[in-house]
Amino acid sequence: MNVTLRDLPQIQSLIQAKTLAALVERYSHAEVTDALRTQIQGLRDALLAGEQPDLPDFTSGAFAATIEATIVARRTPPSSGVVNATGILIHTNLGRARLAPEALHAAAEAGEGAQALEFDLETGKRGARGAAAEQLVCQLTGAEAALVVNNCAAAVLLALTALARGRSVIASRGELIEIGGSYRLPDVIAQSGAQLREVGATNRTRLSDYVQAVDAETAVLLKSHASNFRIVGFTGAPTRSELATLARERDLVLMEDLGSGILIDLAAQGLGDEPVVADILRSGVDLVMFSGDKLLGGPQAGIIAGRADLVARLRAHPMFRALRSDKMTLAALAATLRLYLPPHDPLRDVPVLAMLATPVAELRTRAEAIVAQVEGPVELEITDSAAQVGAGAMPERDLQSVAIALRREGQSADALAAALRGAQTPVIGRIHAGRVLLDMRSTAPSDTPAIVSALRALCP
Ligand SMILES: *Cc1c(COP(=O)(O)O)cnc(C)c1O
Repeated sequence: MNVTLRDLPQIQSLIQAKTLAALVERYSHAEVTDALRTQIQGLRDALLAGEQPDLPDFTSGAFAATIEATIVARRTPPSSGVVNATGILIHTNLGRARLAPEALHAAAEAGEGAQALEFDLETGKRGARGAAAEQLVCQLTGAEAALVVNNCAAAVLLALTALARGRSVIASRGELIEIGGSYRLPDVIAQSGAQLREVGATNRTRLSDYVQAVDAETAVLLKSHASNFRIVGFTGAPTRSELATLARERDLVLMEDLGSGILIDLAAQGLGDEPVVADILRSGVDLVMFSGDKLLGGPQAGIIAGRADLVARLRAHPMFRALRSDKMTLAALAATLRLYLPPHDPLRDVPVLAMLATPVAELRTRAEAIVAQVEGPVELEITDSAAQVGAGAMPERDLQSVAIALRREGQSADALAAALRGAQTPVIGRIHAGRVLLDMRSTAPSDTPAIVSALRALCP
């Protein structure tokens, strides 16, 4: 007897069956309906494809058990932990900075009990939210004052709204950046209610371009970090000190959107040539804005540091209330910042910086230990690799690294990469020259067991 579409039951009448009505009692009408729809859609698709599927007994206990299993599976939250073996240390789509145990502990503690969050223990009166993290930012950058908000985009939006709304902002054409995830500086300026005055050319902007653009409407000179691109060749821009002098003479605010602000001199470690926040402030920039979860290595946050009178205006602005950070973030940020102070060593204790600073030989040892634990039909080779910081920090800079390269007869690199993503703890690599590379620099030593088990699962 041929099964046809007409043999598929209507969900609303099916749900009256005793076995399924019991599930509605136990779970919910919506969940049972959804699970039934998935089952029946599968049968419908098979029939439309010309197949003859076996129809279950829709009122049986066995069928109800299948539906219940679907509901339970949908209620179980997926484990979201993955191994970042992409070689991009700060990967925005993989959650950016890995937090230090101290930061995780601080966040858990803050979430668990009551906090002196906006409460001064000495006076018993209301205190400043985020005071600990802000004080640490000042200590580490030499800033007069600091303020923490939800992310760097929020920091820029708040600063421009509070200081330039209804007036104009001068920015160089070479710095009107777009970074991933729909952050476009011209759009943020427009959102703040300020008018953008572009000056200079894509590759060169002179101090005189800024000078000529300043008028009675001007409130802010805005510099921004190129983040994810570099212009090389015939280029030029005024120095920060030159812009600072102009800002002082004309009573303007000089602010800089740094994106991935760094607090320690990585150039001294042979790790890039990025200026540190303290030097930028010392050169006369009034306010800098940077992220908590990029090279700083903390939770998602936007930090504003600089002149106390300006920070006070931002703190008093109604928009601050909408952009402020929660207590767990503030606790994790403060704990991360403490890792920059003795007896800690940030290059050892802040995971993002530790990844950056790990010697290549150590990465090679990690790769060898993994390969030694896996046998089977997948070809594994340890190879030199080039990792990147990511998230708009040091875009032109390759970090010397080591990767495990995978190849398998009769399976494409795409299929291998997909299989690794399907592991119990998904392992995310990158594809290069027909092989899947698992880059060690973006992993931690504690990722090794998950990588080994994902590779073993590939080798039946
Ligand atoms: C990354 C970046 C931002 C956005 O930072 P979020 O913390 O993601 O909001 C803003 N400006 C620049 C220059 C950046 O590189």
